Amino acid sequence: MTNHALPSYLNAEDLGPWGQYLKQIDRVTPHLGGLSRWVETLKRPKRILVVDVPIERDDGTIAHYEGYRVQHNMSRGPGKGGVRFHQDVTLSEVMALSAWMTVKNAAVNVPYGGAKGGIRVDPKTLSKGELQRLTRRYTSEISLIIGPTKDIPAPDVNTNEQVMAWMMDSYAMIEGNLSTGVVTGKPISMGGSLGRREATGRGVFVTGREAAAKRGVAIAGARIAIQGFGNVGGIAANMFADAGSKIIAVQDHTGTVVHQGGLNVAELHKHVAETGGVAGFPGAEATQDRDSFWGIESDILVPAALEQQITAKNAGQIRTKIILEGANGPTTPEADDILNEKDILIVPDVLCNAGGVTVSYFEWVQDFSSFFWSEEEINARLTRIMQDAFNSVWEVSQEKKVSLRTATFILACTRVLAAREVRGLYP
Ligand code: NAD
Repeated sequence: MTNHALPSYLNAEDLGPWGQYLKQIDRVTPHLGGLSRWVETLKRPKRILVVDVPIERDDGTIAHYEGYRVQHNMSRGPGKGGVRFHQDVTLSEVMALSAWMTVKNAAVNVPYGGAKGGIRVDPKTLSKGELQRLTRRYTSEISLIIGPTKDIPAPDVNTNEQVMAWMMDSYAMIEGNLSTGVVTGKPISMGGSLGRREATGRGVFVTGREAAAKRGVAIAGARIAIQGFGNVGGIAANMFADAGSKIIAVQDHTGTVVHQGGLNVAELHKHVAETGGVAGFPGAEATQDRDSFWGIESDILVPAALEQQITAKNAGQIRTKIILEGANGPTTPEADDILNEKDILIVPDVLCNAGGVTVSYFEWVQDFSSFFWSEEEINARLTRIMQDAFNSVWEVSQEKKVSLRTATFILACTRVLAAREVRGLYP
């Protein structure tokens, strides 16, 4: 056995999200030059914590949930990445999401490593009190390894400002002092940053605008199809609609609504707030079954729900010019090849959805200095960072004749491994 044999829980045969990430690393390795000596570092998380999260349900029974916090890489700074509450969360998924955070943070050059957390739970089955107890117990279990200079969680699927406030408060009770910088994505009234809630959707829009310019697609009048109408997809929809694009199709967990003339996005938000999903929206001219969503012709397609949505099965159906990966890991490597073959320009997740962590970084900086910036300043800095990152990636892709995904990985992995090399191994 070589010293490169992977631990059993990193089985490359696993075709889950972690397997998807490993394939992406294999694709970038030939471009890393002398730094490829360190590439094994990227193929195994630095630290994995699996915790039992017991809570007392409102009916007096005791329920146990499985929780995780994975710190993939901390070569460039403390861990940073969201916490997901979802019934399908697995260790493979959290590992992949933590690794994508390493790449993403390096791609936009914020001084963080990559981490991610999650609980295998459907939060819709919990009361607010149960959700609070779950969040607090989970925070207590992972408090061993998180902290404002160690690892800083943030929201992800099904977690929000309220969950972050409970996490911050639990950590404060455990530590005996309040460090608002232990989590980001907090309420504005408790150390949160203006513009954070909209930041990921804004970043999707900004990188989309850059990509559209490269492909000669006018944003005004562009036909946009979006999967996921939550924090990322919903905000991206607002920004594209404000810029004159037509949101022709939206799919969420409840269904798919279509209007070739453009859905009224404000009305759709109201409908979702009232009913819990897009299904049954009266302003749609048609509904589609789940799979035919991918065949709807558009100028820009925005997967902004969950990973592994665009696969070898449906990639052939896709008729669009640009894909903006608002979600993490929405495209499998096999689908990636099919789409590249069709000359569809894909702005990869690790670049496209980095707006959220960028403003999380601003929030953390503001918390440390207790000095808060205006929304204009935040949005202007965010826009500049996203544009610069897009253009750096574009240059690498042109120079090396590779996709934007591989170019982003080249840029990011070079930064991470250069840090690893200069720091050296301990002891
Ligand atoms: P969210 O919980 O606010 O919204 C998720 C959306 O996806 C909802 O509209 C839901 O109905 C939809 N959805 C869930 N399952 C679906 C299915 N099977 N088919 C179609 N739609 C489905 O979550 P979010 O924060 O918007 O995150 C969405 C994606 O963006 C995730 O991959 C997340 O990791 C990624 N992301 C989020 C942020 C952030 O700041 N929130 C930052 C970077 C990346």
